[in-house]
Formats: sequence, C-alpha cells, structure tokens
Amino acid sequence: MKIGFIGLGIMGKPMSKNLLKAGYELLVYDVNEASMKEVASQGASIASSPQEVAENCKLILTMLPNSPHVRTVIAGDKGVLAGITPGSMVVDMSSIAPGVSKELCALLEAKGADMLDAPVSGGEPKAIDGTLSFMVGGKEDIFEKCKDILGKMGASVILCGSIGAGNTTKLANQIIVALNIAAMSEAFVLGKKAGVNPEAIYNAIRGGLAGSTVLDAKAPMVLEGNFKPGFRIELHIKDLANALETAKEVGVPLPLTSQIMEILQALKVDGKEMNDHCGIIEFYEKLAHIQARK
Ligand code: NAD
Repeated sequence: MKIGFIGLGIMGKPMSKNLLKAGYELLVYDVNEASMKEVASQGASIASSPQEVAENCKLILTMLPNSPHVRTVIAGDKGVLAGITPGSMVVDMSSIAPGVSKELCALLEAKGADMLDAPVSGGEPKAIDGTLSFMVGGKEDIFEKCKDILGKMGASVILCGSIGAGNTTKLANQIIVALNIAAMSEAFVLGKKAGVNPEAIYNAIRGGLAGSTVLDAKAPMVLEGNFKPGFRIELHIKDLANALETAKEVGVPLPLTSQIMEILQALKVDGKEMNDHCGIIEFYEKLAHIQARK
C-alpha cells in the first residue's frame, strides 16, 4: 500500500524514513523542497500538492506545526479534501487543537473518508529511534487498521477515545511537563539562594516522590546550562495556547497553566523562544538575581 506523508520537518523527516526502512512505499509533500528531496533520496516519491497525495494514497499521514497548517493542508486550495476518495484514512500526527481535529474529521467524513488524531510525545531522538508514544483519537476500527503502521514509528500506540481525544491527551501531557519544569526551576533557585547546591538537591530527591521522568531529562540540562532544543519554548507556547483555548471551550479554569504561559511569554520577549523549555529556569534566575546552574 502506498502511504502519503505530508510535513517533513524535525519530526516528519525521521518518521517518514522509518516507514521507508520498514518497506512501505511513500508519496511525500512539504512546502520545503529540500526536505522532500532528502526523503526522496531514501526512496520516497514526491507529490506536487496534498491533493495529489490524496488522489494516489488510501492512507495519508500529516506532521505539521499547528492547527492552521493542518487546516490548509486538508481543506485549503489543492488540499487533501480536493483529492480524497471514499474509504481513505487521514492520520494527523501534529499537535493541534482538539476542536480543529473534530472539524476536519467532519469534512473528511462528508467525503466518505475517516480520520484519526494521533499526536506524539518523545521528540526528535525518539522519532529517529522509532520509539515515539502515540496518543490516538478516533473510531476503534480505523485505529485497528492504522495501529501497526504507527507502531513502525513508535513504541507505544494508545487509543484514548473518539476524534480529538489524542490531542486532548497531548494537551494534558504538555501541561504536566511545563508545570514540572517550573516546579523544578523554582525549587533549584530557592536552594541555590539558600546556600544548597541544586545538583545535590537533584541527587538527593530524584529517587523519592519528587523524582520524575521530566526531572531526570531536564535537571542535568539545567545544571549544565544547556538550553539547546530539544523541545522549543515557542512550541510549548503553541501547545499551552491550545490548552487554554480548549479549556475555555469546555469551561475549565486552568490557573497554573495560565501562569506558566505568562512565564513562557516573558522568555519569548527576552528572545529565548528558540531555547529548550528547560530554559524556564532563566525566568526564575532573573527574578531572584542568582544563577542556579553549576
Ligand atoms: P517543524 O516545524 O520542524 O516541521 C513542520 C513541517 O511542516 C516543515 O517541514 C514545514 O515546511 C511543513 N509545512 C508547514 N506548512 C506546510 C504546508 N502548508 N504544506 C506542507 N508542509 C508544510 O515541526 P516539528 O518539530 O516536526 O513538529 C511537528 C509537530 O509535532 C508539531 O505539532 C509539534 O508540536 C509536534 N511535536 C514536536 C516535537 C519536537 O520535539 N520537535 C515533539 C513532539 C511533538
């Protein structure tokens, strides 16, 4: 079966290469020609539009930055909707607003096609290794049809509910990660100013209740002053904006998420939006006039 793959960025490039390695035939599209040529050098064919991808593939995967990009690729000029045939499936792996997943799914269903939202967690290293975690929303029978193919790019593929549930789960993930990094930053800056080395704090607490995957991934980076992404602050702003928008739609106050959003905006104003999100500590360091790092 020929698979369409649209969006060949930091994540999409290694994910598409893993599908090629697994033996699938790919037809790819991206607005960036160099990215298409790179993936074509490993065996993919190049399409001239999302419409052409949809005309030639029964399964179309997308990995794009945010809701407006996915809307353009699906419903825009020469988009997927213009070429899609009944029985086709779109799996959007981008992290976008759940409401937009629902809106685009309805448009595809009106053409006799189906859609899953299937955002990932894990970042570029896991995209390269093929060990991403997929959080999926959509119909169970469509999930069963796509599960093995997603499994070629990920170590875990979990159905979380109906369409939009994948992106709602991803928003939950992003809230928990941001607040964990902020808590670690607040604690390290307090420790440093009170005269305790943050490295000692990390080593002493990591095996206890405060220990976490986030702490183990981000504390060593922070202690080295290594803010190379990783996951950029600008992408976390995008995800929390989607979380706050969704929360408004369903009527849920998110007081802590609102605060961390303001912290991220302050870092953006300081020109740090391309740094890794563990750079949240720089906000606290500035407030306390102390550097927590080694
Ligand atoms: P990216 O910006 O590197 O890649 C996006 C790609 O989409 C680019 O190649 C761009 O040219 C292409 N694109 C944009 N508009 C297009 C259009 N209209 N038609 C065709 N192609 C278009 O982004 P990324 O880091 O690969 O992230 C993709 C998604 O995965 C985002 O939603 C992001 O939040 C999510 N994500 C990223 C990471 C990470 O660590 N980078 C981790 C987990 C999830």
